[in-house]
Amino acid sequence: MRCARCKRGFLLDVKFGGETFQFCGSCNSFNVLDKGFIALVDFVGGDEMVVRAARISYGKETKGVDQDKKLIKYMMEHRHGTPFEHSLFIFHVKAPIFVARQWFRHRIGSFNEISGRYVEYEDDFYIPKKLRIQHPKNKQASIYGDIPGEDELISLYEEVVRKSYEVYKRFLQAGVAREISRTILPLSLYTQFYWSVNPRSLMNFINLRASEDAQEEIREYAKRISFFFYDRMPWTFSSFVKYAFDGKSQFIQNLKEKLENL
Ligand SMILES: Cc1cc2nc3c(=O)[nH]c(=O)nc-3n(C[C@H](O)[C@H](O)[C@H](O)COP(=O)(O)OP(=O)(O)OC[C@H]3O[C@@H](n4cnc5c(N)ncnc54)[C@H](O)[C@@H]3O)c2cc1C
Repeated sequence: MRCARCKRGFLLDVKFGGETFQFCGSCNSFNVLDKGFIALVDFVGGDEMVVRAARISYGKETKGVDQDKKLIKYMMEHRHGTPFEHSLFIFHVKAPIFVARQWFRHRIGSFNEISGRYVEYEDDFYIPKKLRIQHPKNKQASIYGDIPGEDELISLYEEVVRKSYEVYKRFLQAGVAREISRTILPLSLYTQFYWSVNPRSLMNFINLRASEDAQEEIREYAKRISFFFYDRMPWTFSSFVKYAFDGKSQFIQNLKEKLENL
């Protein structure tokens, strides 16, 4: 399988939290869903930055590995959030519009998105492999279950999406502006954006979006973000998982059992 982002790199399997993700070493990205990706394009800071920011209160910096890990654990347990605001993750994301719409609700961070007024959209739509039924108790959620004629329904979905793109192209060819032609396209259309976010806000995102209450499609992104977070800030991520994650997630539970106790 090829990388959905750079189209060059071959993908490696990365096992994390009991799941396997497809990673491209050429552009530092994971494939997500059927055509999406998440890439970490830049990162500034790290665990040491958390410690240095916290110790500025009494004019000191690092005190050695054991003391520094203990300090991170202490701040995590006591919800001292501001020292976790001095690092920065910059992501490039390709996600369906309905996922982006949930994502953009996270106000603490910065976004720039591709403009359908400026460029013509490609024929890129999210097509679910399986459909889900309404959750019997949670009005927002869904679960897997039997759906009569499921294959036919998925074919219908593909047909509508294809037709909407054909009409979009016809509008453009007839000279209709991109900003009005695009309004025919469905929520399953893939969009792209840059997202810059500090670790404190990222923990809030993972808390809400890796949890099983969140829609499965955005959860897939939150899990891969967790890997990047762990890779760049292992002490912070481990103590977040152990002492501050308060959602419900088998994926996070698996990590909780594996990651180092600080
Ligand atoms: C499972 C799920 C279901 C959801 N369902 C709905 C829904 O039905 N309808 C809907 O509209 N939204 C829904 N949301 C979105 C949700 O209400 C939040 O907008 C979204 O999760 C972003 O969370 P946040 O505000 O904590 O994040 P951010 O906007 O990144 O904010 C981070 C933190 O900063 C602080 N903060 C930010 N802005 C302010 C402010 N203006 N005033 C005070 N403190 C602030 C808060 O402490 C906040 O937690 C849902 C989210 C989830 C996870």
